[in-house]
Amino acid sequence: MADMRELYQQVILEHNKKPRNFGKLEACTHHADGHNPLCGDQLQLTMQVQDGRIADIKFEGSGCAIDVASASLMTGAVKGKTTDEASRMADQFRALVRGELDPAQPHDLGKLTLFEGVKDLPSRVKCAVLPWATLRSALKGEAEASTE
Ligand code: ZN
Repeated sequence: MADMRELYQQVILEHNKKPRNFGKLEACTHHADGHNPLCGDQLQLTMQVQDGRIADIKFEGSGCAIDVASASLMTGAVKGKTTDEASRMADQFRALVRGELDPAQPHDLGKLTLFEGVKDLPSRVKCAVLPWATLRSALKGEAEASTE
């Protein structure tokens, strides 16, 4: 478990410093803005869906290290996935950080299980979930997502 924690720290710091898929898609089919009032995290998500698949996705905004790292890893994880697969991952991720999903059971999260430790930090759960909540809103055609 100590190794997992260390890996988690490294990944969060690294993705916070150099977020992947950072920016804005000019030609997007879906978009949403996310806001976590508890922490002040702000996120703008743009994506392009083609034939039911997320062909491209980017985010911008400002947030804490957990929020930015989660957005960076989320965009990388859902790119190329179908919208159904991405929605299922969003459900699983939320369950994971709430301690409701056992990573030993079958899931689609891959290395995102790194975020499991967030369940012991209740004030950070919304930071980690915000990018996924924003993704869900964008897929549903809602312009705004809030963790409230
Ligand atoms: Zn935050």
